Amino acid sequence: MKVSFYTLGCKLNYSETSQLQDQFQQKGHEIVRFGERTDIVIVNTCTVTENADTECRKIIRRALKTSPDAFIGITGCYAQLQPEEIASIEGVDAVFGTAEKLKIHSLITDFTKTDTPRIYVDELLEPSFDYAQSADSDNRTRAFLKLQDGCNYSCSFCTIPKARGASRSMPFADILNRIISLEQQGFYEIILSGINLGDYKDTEGKKFKDILTLISSLNIPVRFRIGSIEPNLVDNDILSIIAHSTNIVPHIHIPLQSGSSEILRKMRRRYTPHQYQDLVHSIHSYLPQACIGADVIVGFPGETDAHFEETCTFIQDLPFSYLHVFTYSERELTPAAAYDQKIPMNIRKLRNHRLRNLSSLKRKEFYQSQIGMHKIVIPESYDNSNGMWIGWTENYVRTQFHATPSIVQSPISVRLDSYDDNLEIVHASALHSLIEHPHKQFIPLLIQ
Ligand code: SF4
Repeated sequence: MKVSFYTLGCKLNYSETSQLQDQFQQKGHEIVRFGERTDIVIVNTCTVTENADTECRKIIRRALKTSPDAFIGITGCYAQLQPEEIASIEGVDAVFGTAEKLKIHSLITDFTKTDTPRIYVDELLEPSFDYAQSADSDNRTRAFLKLQDGCNYSCSFCTIPKARGASRSMPFADILNRIISLEQQGFYEIILSGINLGDYKDTEGKKFKDILTLISSLNIPVRFRIGSIEPNLVDNDILSIIAHSTNIVPHIHIPLQSGSSEILRKMRRRYTPHQYQDLVHSIHSYLPQACIGADVIVGFPGETDAHFEETCTFIQDLPFSYLHVFTYSERELTPAAAYDQKIPMNIRKLRNHRLRNLSSLKRKEFYQSQIGMHKIVIPESYDNSNGMWIGWTENYVRTQFHATPSIVQSPISVRLDSYDDNLEIVHASALHSLIEHPHKQFIPLLIQ
């Protein structure tokens, strides 16, 4: 049968869809692009997406337009949290929860349309770890490797612990094989991923820093990026391992959410602005070239103008390289949804706009500070219209450079020449491809 997929939400969802695609292929199905005529459609949903149900309905309508007889299966975080609501959407044949996501094949064998949708959603009392890895995009130069899933924290705005269950981790003994397999598939960068990655703990007691130590000892032409890590789980041991490593890149993404201690308390985050500030200074002293990114939520209930100004000043004073700004929106089943002092939507939007402008300014300052340096870029996409390749440096500077379209997409040494304000990109000159050099020369260049 033909099967197509549609994925919403985070990178872990994309990794898991990729795993699902492999499973369907192994069973002899043909994967087709979403929108093409197909027999089965699987939608992997997200609960963080605003208007998850409207979005879901829209995707189902699109799928049924080209394939009116297709079996429609819905999985993911939204399916876990609101299975009945999804089952009531016209056209849906089955709903699969988080624990059932990668077991669709053992649950359904016929994939025929039904009048009454089947619901396979358990309560995630003892969730297991499902393996997942995927290419970042079609170019297959960067891969996501899921090391951890779920979360034991209880941030008051977040539905993820309910949607994905308790924290669990890939057995430490499996990690090396997974990395080698990705290297053999031709990936030059692996992004270590998880919902609460820093909380990695396998049954033998291995922690996240043990993974970093393992990675640091590898001599393969692959660089490693840490996806996102909670600030309370980054310590000097971790920073020291990264600083002494030749293959873990200096890029740290640490969610901030707010610069106000009062709001952080209401969010039930596990650090104070002061602790966060100390951490950013430590990162900067261990890794002076590091790109430091943060998530921020604006418009959380009770966030007064004064709290918001506190956040702006806090961010202005720290060496951030970029921000991911989210407008708070009420999520059913979370404590914050019941908090009073809701912020009007127009104010939330204005605050979002202001922080996005601040993010652009921070990015510009960071990119400009890198001009003149030599870095390593993995060419990711080629733009025929201007003959330019685009890729990221080890410290996450988005870079554009001239090269022939036929170059091998392997690490290349570049000099960063100038910053382009309009495109928010750095123009660079390609110096030489590192693939022509022995691996030993590739690695020292990573830390220039
Ligand atoms: S750390 Fe907080 S925000 Fe992140 S997944 Fe866990 S509960 Fe959600």
